[in-house]
Amino acid sequence: MENCIFCSIINGDIPAEKLYEDDQVLAFKDVNAQAPEHFLVIPKIHISTVNDATDEALLGRMNITASNIAKEHGFAEKGYRLVMNCNSDGGQTVSHIHLHCLGGRQMTWPPG
Ligand code: 5GP
Ligand code: ZN
Repeated sequence: MENCIFCSIINGDIPAEKLYEDDQVLAFKDVNAQAPEHFLVIPKIHISTVNDATDEALLGRMNITASNIAKEHGFAEKGYRLVMNCNSDGGQTVSHIHLHCLGGRQMTWPPG
């Protein structure tokens, strides 16, 4: 989709530090990391919010991709947090769904 930052990362117009890619998902480091480990997993098709998501297998793949990367990077055992923000109350700033994976420090609850 035009004017979508994450579609631009998928098509290569905006660079990103990629961690994993297949035909359906892309994972890359968050440019403004909120934890020692912070990456995003996005679908390669444009879906604006999780309210618009219908493909259960794709959402499952995003989660499994995140856990695989956390394992590869050695912080899965200590733990991490997976978050998908939705719309304004959820704090979503980029309208292309993305799963945050945060790790490498103790997370707090409740989130701000
Ligand atoms: P949201 O607030 O929508 O849940 O999260 C959007 C995330 O995307 C933020 O953590 C932000 O740092 C990240 N982000 C925004 N623009 C870019 C970009 O151009 N490159 C990368 N790697 N991350 C981005
Ligand atoms: Zn997009």
